[in-house]
Amino acid sequence: MAKRYRGPWLVTVGQHQMHCPVCRGALFWEREVQLNTAGMTFMRLDWANDSATGIQCAQCSRLELFTDRRQLGLTAPASA
Ligand SMILES: [Zn+2]
Repeated sequence: MAKRYRGPWLVTVGQHQMHCPVCRGALFWEREVQLNTAGMTFMRLDWANDSATGIQCAQCSRLELFTDRRQLGLTAPASA
């Protein structure tokens, strides 16, 4: 079996192919982004924290955030 591909990925959002709005790149890294604030952690309300899926451009590092991971489709490029 081929080595497991770990990105960067071609990304679709719903039916839309995603391209970086800055450099028009088509490959992105996926990363978990915590939406908690320092204040909430201080108040020990970590249970109320939420996270989002960050999609980061592999070329220019522009980061887009999505709170509904189910909208995202990640596929390996054909060359991978
Ligand atoms: Zn970019």
